[in-house]
Amino acid sequence: MRTTPQTSSRLQEIEELRRRHPSLPPEVFVKEDLLRLGIGFSEDALRAASGAKPKSYFIFSFDRRPIASFGQEENLRAPEEIALVGGREGFRRTIVSVRIHPDSPYQVVVSGGALELQADGTPMCGVELQDTPPYYQRTLRSGKPITEMAPTIEWGYLVYLTVYRKCQYFGFQEECRFCDINENFRQQRAAGRPYQTVKEIDDVLEALAVIDEEDRERRSQALTITGGSITRHLRGRDEGGFYLEYARAIGERFPERWIMKLVIQALRQEELRPFRDAGVRIYHPNYEVWDPRLFPHICPGKEAWIGRDEWMRRILDAAEVFGPSCVIPNFVAGVEMAKPWGFDTVEEALRSTGEGLEHFMSRGVVPRFTVWCPEPLSVLGRDQGPAPLAYHVGLLELWRDIHRSHDLPVPPGYGPPGAGRAVFSVSSFMDVIDPETPLAVFD
Ligand code: SF4
Repeated sequence: MRTTPQTSSRLQEIEELRRRHPSLPPEVFVKEDLLRLGIGFSEDALRAASGAKPKSYFIFSFDRRPIASFGQEENLRAPEEIALVGGREGFRRTIVSVRIHPDSPYQVVVSGGALELQADGTPMCGVELQDTPPYYQRTLRSGKPITEMAPTIEWGYLVYLTVYRKCQYFGFQEECRFCDINENFRQQRAAGRPYQTVKEIDDVLEALAVIDEEDRERRSQALTITGGSITRHLRGRDEGGFYLEYARAIGERFPERWIMKLVIQALRQEELRPFRDAGVRIYHPNYEVWDPRLFPHICPGKEAWIGRDEWMRRILDAAEVFGPSCVIPNFVAGVEMAKPWGFDTVEEALRSTGEGLEHFMSRGVVPRFTVWCPEPLSVLGRDQGPAPLAYHVGLLELWRDIHRSHDLPVPPGYGPPGAGRAVFSVSSFMDVIDPETPLAVFD
């Protein structure tokens, strides 16, 4: 098993990295570390979280341990996200997605009557939770819970619609090797969660109508339509045709209510134009890993069905449909260093990833990333730990500097930028953007 070197406590490692990266906000070192290592909760803390918005398992597990191993029903009781506040460093409010790991060096406990984050037993900062929004209590006419149909993440900013809960890239030969979508479906069903393979369009529209009615403050501003890849057919449609039905229905019923985002495979321009016409503003053709040597190992299905070079070409082609700033491909930061294929050193991994960032940002397309959480039900997460924290903070600096060097706007559809303001919870790329950076203008 490969693990992060533990020659020092988390605090010592963070302090050392802060000396090497003084221009990064102090909060992001902890945020990135929490995302790679996960968080444990004491029984008291779980009890205190009982009124907070719970983890919805909106697509993957994003946990460091399988549900079957949890001793406190954390899968039902842990919050979706936490906000880090105050503490020894006076943290500005920093939103972090919860990735459950009961044995993590990071634990949320109750101290002095309030929630506190500790690292190796040392108090770090306060923890705040988001109240459960009233619409989470509602059920649809069909009896289905709204939390399953249309959960919100990013502190309420983003409605997340995983309309197809599985992926037709199936098994070792095709599934992306960091991904647990199919295994997570099985474990959630086994744990009693009412996961459906395909969400009915009418149910989705009903859920959105409830949110629209109840979310009077307009906290939710964007929505994502996504799900697994469709390599053959689903309900008689190919991938473009299947997801287009949802985009059209939502666009017709709720024009301009939410910034509509789409996370599906890299399709051709002629397949994408109908999405633009339906009201999709932002397209995420996620490339997962840039390196040409690693791509076939990490994404064997994408390599076999579309091919790495064609995928990267289609990303740039999509910029002609949506506008460059509205094509935002994701990559999974950290898989570049996963064994057995990954780079051995942080420097090599950053060099390769930076090449991809330069390739796209020099053309106005801004990739973003999520922090790889080695999920134990995925191939790569079975028997190894995450990439070093040094890689993640190095990447933040690199991403910020390349973004700046091309004078690019804030990527749209993620809420406000800057430390203390960002709500994007699965990496810190929004936290490191200067808040004075101009916002992107929709084409
Ligand atoms: S395309 Fe890859 S990352 Fe996406 S759901 Fe399928 S296996 Fe997972």
